[in-house]
Formats: sequence, C-alpha cells, structure tokens
Amino acid sequence: MTCRTRFAPSPSGDLHVGGARTALFCWALAKKHKGVFLLRIEDTDQKRSSDAASLGFLRDLRWLDIGWDEGPEDEGFGGGEHGPYFQSKRLSIYQEHLQRLIDAQLAYPAFETSEELSAARDKARAEKRPYRYDRTALSLDPSEVQERLARGDDHVIRFRVPDDSDVIIQDEVLGEIRIASGEVDDFVIRKADGFPTYHFAVVVDDAGMGVTHVVRGQEHLANTPRHVLLQQALGFDRPVYAHLPLIQNPDGSKMSKRDKDKALRKEVKDRGLTSAEAVDAESWSVWIADKTRQLPHHCAERLAQELGIDLPEVSVDDFRRAGYLPEVLINYLALLGWSAGDDLEKFDGDFLCQNFTLDRIGKSNARFDRQKLLAFNLDAIQDMTPEDFLGRFRAHCEAEHPEFIARTTPEQFALIAESNRERAKTLDDPARSCRFFVMDDDDITWPVTKGTRKALAKGEPSGFKRLEVLREVLGTVEDFTASAIEPALQAWADEHAEGNFGAAGMPLRVAVTGGTTSPPLPDTLAILGKVSVLRRIERCLACAPDFAS
Ligand code: GLU
Repeated sequence: MTCRTRFAPSPSGDLHVGGARTALFCWALAKKHKGVFLLRIEDTDQKRSSDAASLGFLRDLRWLDIGWDEGPEDEGFGGGEHGPYFQSKRLSIYQEHLQRLIDAQLAYPAFETSEELSAARDKARAEKRPYRYDRTALSLDPSEVQERLARGDDHVIRFRVPDDSDVIIQDEVLGEIRIASGEVDDFVIRKADGFPTYHFAVVVDDAGMGVTHVVRGQEHLANTPRHVLLQQALGFDRPVYAHLPLIQNPDGSKMSKRDKDKALRKEVKDRGLTSAEAVDAESWSVWIADKTRQLPHHCAERLAQELGIDLPEVSVDDFRRAGYLPEVLINYLALLGWSAGDDLEKFDGDFLCQNFTLDRIGKSNARFDRQKLLAFNLDAIQDMTPEDFLGRFRAHCEAEHPEFIARTTPEQFALIAESNRERAKTLDDPARSCRFFVMDDDDITWPVTKGTRKALAKGEPSGFKRLEVLREVLGTVEDFTASAIEPALQAWADEHAEGNFGAAGMPLRVAVTGGTTSPPLPDTLAILGKVSVLRRIERCLACAPDFAS
C-alpha cells in the first residue's frame, strides 16, 4: 500500500514552527516510502479562515522546499484526484457521510443553545465532575424533532457514541493508549452554521483522500478517540497515528504565537508606558485592559519598532524575514523530536527523506533553543562561498530591504556583502548593522551616548580634533579604494598617534556611521565613497557643541 501522509493546517495566518515541523515529518515520511505527501486546508471555521492566510502557508512551505504532491495548486505543486483540497469546498461530501450516520441512527440533531450548554458545563465544574453532554436531545419526541427541524430551529448534529466503546490506539510515538467507554460524550459533528466540525471533516477527508499515516502535534491526541469512533461508525480504515512531542520555549513554557504579545506587554510594563505612537488610544486601552487580546500583526510590529525590541520569532515567515536559511530551519526543526542517531545533528532535507522513521521520534517535549539555531545558521553562512553569500544576501535584500539594492551600485553591494560575510549570523545582520550605508548623508545623527562621547569628545586630542585632521588626510586620497585609504590612515597614525590606527578608527567610524560598529574602516569608507565620507565628517564636526557639556 502506498504511504500517503497529509499536512492539514487551519489557515490562521502564518505557519508556526510547530506546524512546519509537522509538515516536514509528513513530507519526509512520504518521501522515505516513495509515497505521497498531501496538503489539505482545513478552513471550515468560518471565523478564522481567509484565502490570503492559506496562501501564506503555501508560500512558507515552498520557501522551506517542502513540496506537496497533492493539494492546492500553486506554482507547479499540488493538484491530484482527491480534491478539492480546501474543506470549505467539500461540504456536499460531508453531508453525504453525515446522512449515512443519521440514517443509521448514529447521529442526531440537538437544539440546546450555547447558553444552556455553558450553564451545564459550569454546573459540572462546580460539582467537580467532568462535563458530558447528557443526551437531552435524544429523549425528545420524534414528532417534536421533526417540527423543530421543519421550523428551521438552530441545531447541531451530534454523533451518538456507542455505549460499549473502549478505544485502544497504538500510537507510533506514545505507544498504546486506552480510553475507557464513557469518556467520550456525544460530540458535535455538524455545527449550527451547517459546517462540519473539525472532527468530522478530518475523518471523512483522511478516508476520502486515502491517508495512511496521520502525523500531528500532541495537542491533537485527545481528539483521536473521537476520530477512531467515527471511523468505526463510517466503516473507514484506521490510519497509523503518530503524535509529535510539544515544542517548548527554553523556560519550559509552550512556544506559541502569543509569545510576541507577551514580549510587548512585558516591555510596556517594565517601562511603565501608558501610550505609544504605534497604537491608537482606543486599541491601546482595550489591549491593556484585556490580557487575552493580542494586537493585530502590523500594529504589534510597529510597536516593537517604536520600543526598539525584537519580537521572538515563532512563525516560519518570522525566521525568513530575520534572515535564517531555509535549509538550516529544516535541519533544526527535524531535531525537535527526531533523532538521526549517532549524535548526528547536521543534515539536509535529502538525508531526512532517506532516513526518516517514526520510531526515532522521542516522547519528551522538545526545547526550542534559539541560540542553537542561530549557531547553526552562522555555521551554514560561514560554509558558503563568497558568491553564494552574495547571491543569497542579495535575494534577501530584494525581498526585505529593497533600499539596499536601490541605493547601492552592484560593486558597493558586493563590498557590503563581503565585508560582513565572516561575521553575519543571519542574512539580515548586514542589512541591520549597515543601514548607515543606504541612509542619506544628511540623515545620519550622533546621539550623545557613552560610546559616541568616548570616541568624539574624550581624550587629548579629542576625536573631534582628530577628525579635523583626518578630513584633510582623506581629502587627499585620490583613488578612494580600501587599499589606498588604509596606507593613508596608517601614515597619519604613525605620525600623530604613535602608529595606533584605532585612534583614527573610532572617531571616523562614529562620524560616518553614527554608531560604534561597522565593517573594517577602510572598506566602510571606500563603500561610502569620498563625497559621502567628507560630508558626514563635516556634519559630525558641527555637532561638537552637543557634546560640550
Ligand atoms: N487542522 C488542524 C490544525 O491545524 C490539524 C488537523 C490534524 O492534523 O488532524 O491543528
């Protein structure tokens, strides 16, 4: 039998690292067995779904190079005979199977309102017993049921769980799991809006799409008995199940999309802020008043920018934008629960596809160690040839920092890349640390900080004094290349600073960048060009009074 795996995201914005790991394992398992990896979009929750969001998933999977054999058609991927691959387009299929259950008296309409149900839940909680639906709807008189249906009363359809229904599941990761009869109540399979619930749709689709292996996060484990009971009632084969360990932050908390919001709240609280430009007053007060709320994505990003903090990356797109390499992310994701054996940690997607087996997935929670991922990324960048790095840094800038392309010549851009290659941990590092290259000369500013004060105003002669001389020195360098600038600065240092090149370095660096870090100085000056260098020195000198006090 061909191995068919599926990744079934609900479109809720970005692809979270947990989802990406699931997709990766499903893909690797299918490839290992020369089977089929299919992608299905679970968009039956009308409140959450949007087409754009599911396209985000497709883009993220493509970027990771996790291609799907069947599924939504996109840039050469997908297609297949088991579609449509969007659940919202499969309603008639669910209806047909639902009718089979109703005809067999294995499903029935229930008319309780959500208020009634939550009151029953509260009561159970107060009495410290687990809530189970009490089957009130089953005791209704059939004629009343018909009447209410004919009248169009709001109702759901519930699955009638067989009374004698111990469920035993052989999970490939967790081993045998037993759920005693009575633990699963008559759950809803069709919602009042006419859409199937997740439980029903997933079972119908897995069967209809010939899925042989269900690999998914452990948060779905509690759902599996329901799925197994439905499969039995509908006469479907049971797929192999493998539930993946949870992914946690290093502090043991669950890694989640909320981590960004938490980081923002902490910063706002630590600084005692009561407003911010990035968030309008009304949204701010609603957000502050209700800790369960999250700021909309763009708003959160603006606020982070205003506060000058980096939000923790939690989605694939976050990592892409932060300049991680897809092959590194794939490698790292695979280590979240899977082991290659022999302490092997570095491998690529091909290796994973050739060697992936479910029995190498561990039971214990996986820790997401950002430092380790960053170290992997640094190693991968350092292994690149200069040409590779240039090409990939360029592609990253085209997507994320177009100003770097627009405001540099190809030669300048290549110099920026090369001067950063050996220290960049991500493809984004050079763009962040070298922003001064693409700023207008007149936009550079020199805030008074410990570092700038030391470089410009302290000592005898001070950095400002030295800059006056250095301006003359640089003015005489005709061919403004790193190899011509370096001896000119060295000659100045020999004469005026006992050969100490650094004495020239810091004031010049601060003058041309506004900060205290940059690639090697002769490279930095050469990339900027003589006109900009002299202009920036002149403007910096004009700031001397700010440093006087
Ligand atoms: N749609 C579900 C989710 O996004 C996954 C369903 C499954 O794998 O069974 O969590």
